[in-house]
Amino acid sequence: MKYKTLTIDTALPAKPRAKVMIIYTGGTFGMVRDAKGILLPFDFALILEHLPTLRNLFLQITVISFEHPIDSSDMEPRHWQAIGLLIQEHHQSQDGFVVLHGTDTMAYTASALSFMLQNLSKPVVFTGAQLPISESRSDARENLITALEIASSFKDGRPRVPEVCIYFDYELIRGSRARKVESMHFDAFQSENYPHLAKAGVTIDYNERAIQKAGTGPLSLLQKFDQSVAILKLFPGITEAAVESIVGQPGIKALIIETFGAGNAPTADWFIRVLKEAIGRGLLVLNVSQCPGGMVVQGKYETSRSLLEIGVISGGDLTIEAAVTKLMLLLGEYGVDKTRVLIGQPLAGEITMMA
Ligand code: ASP
Repeated sequence: MKYKTLTIDTALPAKPRAKVMIIYTGGTFGMVRDAKGILLPFDFALILEHLPTLRNLFLQITVISFEHPIDSSDMEPRHWQAIGLLIQEHHQSQDGFVVLHGTDTMAYTASALSFMLQNLSKPVVFTGAQLPISESRSDARENLITALEIASSFKDGRPRVPEVCIYFDYELIRGSRARKVESMHFDAFQSENYPHLAKAGVTIDYNERAIQKAGTGPLSLLQKFDQSVAILKLFPGITEAAVESIVGQPGIKALIIETFGAGNAPTADWFIRVLKEAIGRGLLVLNVSQCPGGMVVQGKYETSRSLLEIGVISGGDLTIEAAVTKLMLLLGEYGVDKTRVLIGQPLAGEITMMA
């Protein structure tokens, strides 16, 4: 991966109050219109022209841009690795990180990074925008300014939010709990099963009790991904052929079934048989609900009892974004047997443990 690097000292001639690295990956945030009105990625060297108020933050900002910024629909595990490696490399020298990313798959990348960065002790704040920075009503300016403030905020001399999170539309939420829920309005993200980490109004109010504790040892990076994962989204009337075509794909090691409500699925004999045979062949099957809020409780209803009996693993209140990225990382790092054990255990505050 190739990058362009640029350092902007917004405090000069004074000393900067903190050092923040911006990793610019692309997305709507950095688009500007050319003479013909076509949206193109902008040159970050011009950021102070778009955002003169950056000067009031008194920060030393190092911007590392992907040489070719991308729409986040093109994100792949190799991009997650690249972002993880940049953060690992600069973790010591920076006080915090802001990752500028398209909103469409931001929740996947934020989830992946929260699992990859073990023992994180600095903030990694993802943000982006629904309207390009060049538009007068753009949300890009507020999102970036506040993300930078959060990434450079200290409490008792330590970074205040030492976790991977998403700041968007006045709310800070945990990365591994986030979902994109809105494509037109500015409130694009939601964390249905975990409280917000901060709300920005006249002041930024931090929800201290919800924020993860900083890692104590050195940062380590998990970065091997195995993409042999598939999702089967259930719907009333789904056919045996459709289920078989997904479950029977050659080479898959883990299958997420996106179930109804609290983890329920059809009770038809063929459905249970197809899954049971696949589990018998060694496939890991994880139950994640289609509901954004609440959790999978297998056995609560008759319609999930058989899933429990045949060895489907409960995904609890994992989001689909967290489930996919966590499976890929665990499979890549540890293989399928260990993944079966680790998938239900919290790695980055992404799942609620039941008492
Ligand atoms: N398609 C864009 C992306 O995800 C949308 C955005 O940035 O909001 O890259």
